[in-house]
Amino acid sequence: MRTLLCIIMTVCSVTLFAQQTTTTSYTGKYVLVIHGGAGTLNKSQFTPALEAKYKSGLDSALQVGYAILEKGGNALDAVEATVKVLENNPLFNAGKGAVFTNEGINELDAAIMDGKTLAAGSIAGVRTIKNPITAARAVMEKSEHVLLSGRGAEAFAAAQGIEMVDPSYFYTPERWKGLQRAKQRDSLDALKKAGQTAYAVELDEQRRKDKYGTVGAVALDVHGNLAAATSTGGMTNKKWGRIGDAPIIGSGTYANNNTVAISCTGWGEYFLRLVMAKSISDRMEFGGQSLALASETLVMKELPALGGDGGLIAVDKNGNIALPFCTEGMYRGFIKKEKQGAAVVKDILIFK
Ligand code: ASP
Repeated sequence: MRTLLCIIMTVCSVTLFAQQTTTTSYTGKYVLVIHGGAGTLNKSQFTPALEAKYKSGLDSALQVGYAILEKGGNALDAVEATVKVLENNPLFNAGKGAVFTNEGINELDAAIMDGKTLAAGSIAGVRTIKNPITAARAVMEKSEHVLLSGRGAEAFAAAQGIEMVDPSYFYTPERWKGLQRAKQRDSLDALKKAGQTAYAVELDEQRRKDKYGTVGAVALDVHGNLAAATSTGGMTNKKWGRIGDAPIIGSGTYANNNTVAISCTGWGEYFLRLVMAKSISDRMEFGGQSLALASETLVMKELPALGGDGGLIAVDKNGNIALPFCTEGMYRGFIKKEKQGAAVVKDILIFK
């Protein structure tokens, strides 16, 4: 009996060892890229203090993901943890700080994707989940579905023990003001007709400013795995249960170890129509295009050609990164190490 046990244990440990050695190939290279939304970011209205605040918010998120990747942790854990930090920061339109719907409530969308297995999870239109990205990951790992919405998604998250909050948790005065401005703009045509053209033009200019924001992270870990995560409050003044691109796998969020991990931000309706993230991946996989060419073509040409705007962050399987945007600015940053022993390179940017 004891001999049999010994044989079984030896076989098990050999198998375990074999699995560990085949799945663990440290390249020493890791990359984390983040965004905090794209839009009309007017440099002249940006005080140094405000700029510092945003940059420090982005930096805190980068540090959290970096700490995971640096220890040899996986890309999926890094993007989830990074996005969670951004969701908890009221400066960004995701989690606390999300924009308001036309009805004056916050409805959140999020998605996560594992490039190694192509597993994905999303949630849409939720009002009581503190960190939507964690719920999206639970959908991926603990349900047989990919996308859950509304009350069902909330019931699922609560059953998983995920932190739930009262909808009032998401209130911020800034976003509330943004909704009031957006509602005024709803009457733009009436204003124009009434001859108040100058005011109408001013409101029109503000339109894009209040519209956007989203947070996201993409990562390549030392094992060669890619992952992407996106979380958003969507667009200010959205109506009728509107869902944007962020939680739609292939549009606002996508990761595939054969190609690239992408998280988008911008006017979701256009990203949906272009199937943005998967289109870039397909150009790379089937058209032999580089990440730079594929992402520039989609974001700088096809997106504006349709009338949309926004940007994205991407990292490919070789660690190349791209951060194209066709708006005035995009909150963005990256941290990367090219190989073992190399210096860590970090940058955080807002404007062009
Ligand atoms: N893409 C998001 C949406 O349309 C918004 C944004 O990224 O600013 O819901």
